[in-house]
Amino acid sequence: MHGMEVILPGGLLYQGSIQRQAKFKLLTGYVEQALIECNAELERPEFVTEVLNVVLDSIGDHAADSKCISGLCVADRQYLMLRLGAMINGEQMWLKVACADCDDFFDMDVRRCDLPFKEAGEGFPLGTLHLGEYTLTLRTPTGADQQQYATLSDEQALQQLLRRCITSVNAEPPSDEFIQGLAQSDIEAIDELLDEISPAVCTRLLVTCPECGLEQQAELDHYALDYLNKYYFYDEVHTLASYYHWGEAEILGLTHSKRHLYIEMINRSQGMSIERDMQ
Ligand SMILES: [Zn+2]
Repeated sequence: MHGMEVILPGGLLYQGSIQRQAKFKLLTGYVEQALIECNAELERPEFVTEVLNVVLDSIGDHAADSKCISGLCVADRQYLMLRLGAMINGEQMWLKVACADCDDFFDMDVRRCDLPFKEAGEGFPLGTLHLGEYTLTLRTPTGADQQQYATLSDEQALQQLLRRCITSVNAEPPSDEFIQGLAQSDIEAIDELLDEISPAVCTRLLVTCPECGLEQQAELDHYALDYLNKYYFYDEVHTLASYYHWGEAEILGLTHSKRHLYIEMINRSQGMSIERDMQ
């Protein structure tokens, strides 16, 4: 039995076809516990692979594993993290913005399901670019690419990205000289084509500061799991154990929604007994 299914904006290239259907595991307490234990010290791309490996059941016909999750394009990984946030914390999220002008902090109410995204362009994940006498085959960047250049300087990361995403030049693997000899205008043309074929998920919102009225861009971080709280999670397990005298294994076997339903019932009955005591 699996949980929610989503259609990826891009998809996984597997055995010659693009597989876009991703299935999450059933969100039990065990899955949430594994998420809480994910190593937040890892570089972001590696962390996201670890998180998605905990929660995903399959991508198309492929059982989800860290290799195929690393092979997903960047937007697919953002999209899956966004859907995971909705599964655990609901569609509504509060975005905390620090105004760029007056230093005021304000909250924006954003619905995850309302954030726009763009589906992959034709030919995804590959594209062909003609640069003078050269014909380049390009591939959209993946989580594995991000993992490779996470710790590099911007200049090194760009070189690394070009090296990985230009898969062939005139049907041959690109040489180091070719990559290093690319002009700025060539790099811009490569970037433009990759943008065209890559899917995209909204990562920036136009917001207005209620204090000073300045219109500005607010960044969305789809990779943060800040809605997960270790203390609250174990407090819920503890509450159910104390109230119903269930074992930890039984409680962790409950789905997220069922656990919350019981917690709500306990809170309600305790609220009722407080009301009774007050009368
Ligand atoms: Zn302001």
